[in-house]
Amino acid sequence: MKDENFLKENNARQLWHPMGAPGDAQANPPKIIKGAEGSSITDIDGHSAVDAVGGLWCVNLGYSNDRVKQAIADQLFDLPYYSAFAGTSNPPAIEAAYAVQEFFAPDGMERVFFTSGGSDSVETCLRLARQYHRLRGEATRTKFLSLKKGYHGTHFGGASVNGNNRFRINYEPLLPGCFHLPSPYPYRNPFNETDPAKLAQLIAQAMEDEIQFQGANTIAAFIMEPIQGAGGVIVPDATFMPLMREICDRHGILLISDEVITGFGRTGDWSGARHWGVQPDMMSTAKGITSGYFPVGAALMSGKVAEVFEGAGADGGIYHGYTYSAHPVGAAAVIACLEETLRLDTKTNAAVRGKQLYDGVCKLAERYDIIGDVRGGHGLMTGIEIVSDRAAKTPMDGETMKRIHQTAYEAGAMVRLGMHNILMSPPLTITEGEIDTILTALDKGFASA
Ligand code: PMP
Repeated sequence: MKDENFLKENNARQLWHPMGAPGDAQANPPKIIKGAEGSSITDIDGHSAVDAVGGLWCVNLGYSNDRVKQAIADQLFDLPYYSAFAGTSNPPAIEAAYAVQEFFAPDGMERVFFTSGGSDSVETCLRLARQYHRLRGEATRTKFLSLKKGYHGTHFGGASVNGNNRFRINYEPLLPGCFHLPSPYPYRNPFNETDPAKLAQLIAQAMEDEIQFQGANTIAAFIMEPIQGAGGVIVPDATFMPLMREICDRHGILLISDEVITGFGRTGDWSGARHWGVQPDMMSTAKGITSGYFPVGAALMSGKVAEVFEGAGADGGIYHGYTYSAHPVGAAAVIACLEETLRLDTKTNAAVRGKQLYDGVCKLAERYDIIGDVRGGHGLMTGIEIVSDRAAKTPMDGETMKRIHQTAYEAGAMVRLGMHNILMSPPLTITEGEIDTILTALDKGFASA
């Protein structure tokens, strides 16, 4: 490893950072994280902080799970790679698919298609949704519906159903035939409706209208996150996802639950769909499937979808997949990670610690006027919307957001900024004391605004 001076000098020189401006990175160099233990990270200057981001909503088991590390190391020596394209398979891939299917059995998920991450999983679901309808003789069903403020990764398909302008605008034209409904976001919505249940009804009506306008026989799928993550931790009313399920069923539209964040315990249940009592037709997953220890995603198919592909014989050929689909080392990470997720029952800790974090932030909101909205209360996903004027709901400026972030970091907690929101998704193994540290650090951050 090169020395610290080399790393600092070259940080953001050759390396372009995702989701950042290369022209800004020299002036505002990204923090160099060089180590991690439990729920905490340590930067190159030796400063440690509780990682309230969980890497990137993904390090569900924390950084010190030796069983997962050992499983990855062992597999590297047994078989570091072999393709799973038709014609070959490998033992960990077979076992990992079995484990994932078992894990998500209550969600009705019966088949597993491995990918290299969340964007790949979304892309897989979108593409196979079109193929599903084509195999059923409904080739006109090619369009997609999704929600504003939704985040579905950065491939062209995912960006096309993405509901945030900043992830779309520079990359247009995107996929034609993608239409966006309002987000179930009571704090800001075009109906000015603050009651979450009434808002759910209004969006359901907007969905019905859009389906009538487009023609149901042109729509392949509706994709949504059970709780919108990157868009600001937007928690819908409990009736919302069941309503969407019912509308999709009535119009022959597939429901894709994008569980890249919400899968594997984050919401306090094993999936976001299960949290809301819904069975999707497809599920995109990643992140928690390996707790960030290896880049893996999975697109999951319900029995209804599987039947159509499998009943079509050779015509049901899936001409889609990735070199690293069902990578043996990744698959070994999946097996170990799921075993650990179940053994440690991380969903239960997520529910308890999630409540502590949410309640703590609500208390801070009583003291700080800059807190416009606090969202969460369903597992370890918490969003705080920061405003410069509470009555006018004016989004806080970027400089102040950066100051809050840096002060909180220096006080011992790494949080994530999403525009004028603070987003938190710590490891699901986090302790009571570590949540207290996050809350104290946030307090100092808000005091610096
Ligand atoms: N879908 C959702 C809901 C996500 O939150 C993300 C990533 N945050 C993605 C898809 C894309 O995943 P990845 O970054 O692994 O490609």
